[in-house]
Amino acid sequence: MQRILVTGGAGFLGSHLCDRLLGEGHDVLCVDNFFTGSKRNIAHLLGHPRFELLRHDVTFPLHVEVDRIFNLACPASPVHYQHDPVQTTKTSVHGAINMLGLAKRLDARILQASTSEVYGDPEVHPQPEAYWGRVNPIGLRSCYDEGKRCAETLFFDYHRQHALDIKVVRIFNTYGPRMHPDDGRVVSNFIVQALRGQDITIYGDGRQTRSFCHVDDLLDAMTRMMDTERGFTGPVNIGNPGEFTMLELAERILQLVGGRSRLVFQPLPADDPRQRQPDIALARQALGWEPRIALEDGLRDTIAYFRTLLAEGQA
Ligand code: NAD
Ligand code: UDP
Ligand code: UDP
Repeated sequence: MQRILVTGGAGFLGSHLCDRLLGEGHDVLCVDNFFTGSKRNIAHLLGHPRFELLRHDVTFPLHVEVDRIFNLACPASPVHYQHDPVQTTKTSVHGAINMLGLAKRLDARILQASTSEVYGDPEVHPQPEAYWGRVNPIGLRSCYDEGKRCAETLFFDYHRQHALDIKVVRIFNTYGPRMHPDDGRVVSNFIVQALRGQDITIYGDGRQTRSFCHVDDLLDAMTRMMDTERGFTGPVNIGNPGEFTMLELAERILQLVGGRSRLVFQPLPADDPRQRQPDIALARQALGWEPRIALEDGLRDTIAYFRTLLAEGQA
C-alpha cells in the first residue's frame, strides 16, 4: 500500500480517482485549491482514516512525503480555464515544475494528466501519439493547450535530465457524474438544459465531432498506466474511439431525458477543433485496456447524477 498524492483531487476526475485509490487500500493525500473542484465531490471521504485533504495551490512549492503523484490540478473546461488564463498557464507550468521537484526529491513516480488538446485542431485523424499537433500559440485556448504542452516538455526533460520515473497520459473528452453543472462542457450543458426543459445550445453547425469516454473507463486506464514498468513513459492516449457529432449527442440526450427542449444554434467559439478521435492502439497494447462503457449507458448514469443535483437545488 502506498501514500499517493492526487493534485486536483476535489475535481471531477480527481475525486473519482481518490475513491478508487482508497478502495485499493492506499493512503490518499488530496491537494486542491478549490478553483473548480468542490467539497461536495469529496465530502463522503472526509471522515475516512486513510484520506487527507490539503487546500493548496500547486503553483506554490509543496513539501510532503508520498510515494506516488497523480498531477491533475488544472481547470479543464474552456469556460473555466479562460476565466483567468494567466493562472491556467501558471497552474500547468509552475504546477508541473513544483510537482516534478517534489517527485525528484522523493524519487517518486509521477503521472501527468495531459490532454488531447495538445493536438489542437488536428489535420491527422484519428490522432496517434506520434502526431505533433496543430495548436494556435496565441489564441483563447492557448493558455490551456500550450500550458499542457509545456508541462509534457517538463516531464520529459525531468525524465531525461534527472532520470525521473514519469508517466504521461493524454486524456480525450471524458464525462460522468461529478462534472461541474456550470462548466460549459458539452455533455453537462446538454443534460442540464434537457432536464430543465431549456433550449439545447449547439455551437456552430453541430457537425464538429468529439469522442466521449466514461470516467470509470478513463480511470481504469490511468491507474493501469501508473502501474506500468519503470521506463515506460508514454505519452499514451486514453479515450473512447466512438466519435459523434454534437447534433448526434444532443439527439441521444434528448431521447434519454425526454422533454420538450429545442435545438438552438449559437456561434462556434474561436479555435474550436473540427474533429477529434483518439487512436488507442498503444493503450490497447501497452495497458491491455479498451473502453467498455457505451455512450448510452454512460449518459444514463450521468443524467441520473444531474437529476439528483437539480432536485437538491445544487444546479
Ligand atoms: P476539474 O476542473 O473538475 O478538476 C480540476 C481540479 O484542479 C479542480 O478540483 C480544481 O480546483 C483544481 N485546481 C485547479 N487549479 C489548481 C491549482 N493551481 N492548485 C491546486 N488545485 C487546482 O477538471 P477535470 O475534468 O477533473 O480534469 C482533471 C485533469 O484532467 C485536468 O488536468 C485536465 O486538464 C485533465 N483532462 C480532463 C479532461 C476531461 O475531459 N475531463 C480531458 C483532458 C484532460
Ligand atoms: N519543490 C517542491 N517540493 C519539494 C521539492 C521541490 O515544491 O519537495 C519545488 C521547488 O520549490 C522548485 C521546484 O519544485 O521550485 C523544482 O525543484 P527542482 O529541485 O527541480 O529545482 P530547483 O529547486 O533547483 O529550482
Ligand atoms: N459545445 C456545444 N454546445 C455547448 C457546449 C459545447 O455545441 O453548450 C461544443 C463545443 O463548441 C465543442 C464541443 O461541443 O465543439 C465540445 O466542447 P467541450 O467544451 O465539452 O470540450 P472541448 O471543446 O474542450 O473538446
